[in-house]
Amino acid sequence: KRKVIPSASELIEAIKKGDKIALSRAITLVENTNPEHLERANEVINGCLPFANKSVRIGITGVPGVGKSTFIEAFGTYLTSIGKKVAVLAVDPSSSISHGSILGDKTRMEELVKNENAFIRPSASGDSLGGVARKTRESIILCEACGFDTIIIETVGVGQSETAVHSMVDFFLLLKIAGAGDELQGIKRGIMEMADTIVINKADGDNISKAKLAKTEFNRALHLFPAKNSGWNPKVTTCSAYEKTGIDAIWSIISDYFTLVKENHFFEKKRQDQNQFWMIETINEQLKNNFYSHPEILKLLDEQKKAVQNNELSPFAAAKNLLDKYFKI
Ligand code: GDP
Repeated sequence: KRKVIPSASELIEAIKKGDKIALSRAITLVENTNPEHLERANEVINGCLPFANKSVRIGITGVPGVGKSTFIEAFGTYLTSIGKKVAVLAVDPSSSISHGSILGDKTRMEELVKNENAFIRPSASGDSLGGVARKTRESIILCEACGFDTIIIETVGVGQSETAVHSMVDFFLLLKIAGAGDELQGIKRGIMEMADTIVINKADGDNISKAKLAKTEFNRALHLFPAKNSGWNPKVTTCSAYEKTGIDAIWSIISDYFTLVKENHFFEKKRQDQNQFWMIETINEQLKNNFYSHPEILKLLDEQKKAVQNNELSPFAAAKNLLDKYFKI
């Protein structure tokens, strides 16, 4: 039996009607690295673009075990209960190696997976963060065109992926736990600086007082950072994703943020800056891919590497030879 491949316009129409199967297919298309699919993928994205952008994009990060999946399950379920349509995407460049360390295990989001008003998609696989991030960004557009008004992007708080996620969301939430020993030292300053809100999870049982203490300490630490361009003062709050407490308060903080940045126009400005950033990133990524996959370049690259190794050629001269060749192809 011949497999029927939907055309770009069929996919666009179905996505606009809120068809989650079409959305999944379109994301698979976007994730496909096969150049012959690229044109159709671009067509779908361009067709969806006029219907995108009407959402809030929230990044969630935290080290493994902090409770991201449990939190997104509770938070996402809460959001659907107040009438939101929630899409959850992930950026995890390591997932191709670890076979999907985040969102791979969907049993941790049992309720949300079954929820009609939610859409959950594990991280695209790929060996470069740039590639995975681009695919996620395109998937955001598709989800928005499909009617999802709240986009959650999950990433693991180890490595560079937070920066990539920060550059594709409006609001950045850092999930932490109390007593992990990093309240004042060892904390990744850069990530704390990016956070619009720090949520101390697992504030339940014996942990409640420790969580409160951590809240005070984080609040103090946040005061040491320079003021944000958004005009927003980052907040610290506690919750229990497990017992589903403190979740509504987090949404209330996020809503306050959006009220502020829509009023002071930081919201549009940030999205415009992000669009420009992603344009340049996409050019860089595609130039690099194109360069390193060109058979003639690969051949010359091999030769030039040997020449450099044998001190017959300086690395700069070799690089120039390769680039000259590339731009003449
Ligand atoms: P992730 O690796 O950040 O996605 O973390 P998970 O959501 O998989 O949670 C890691 C562990 O912490 C699991 O055993 C959860 O049941 C537990 N956990 C998550 N949230 C809470 C919470 O609010 N309170 C308690 N006590 N445990 C939690």
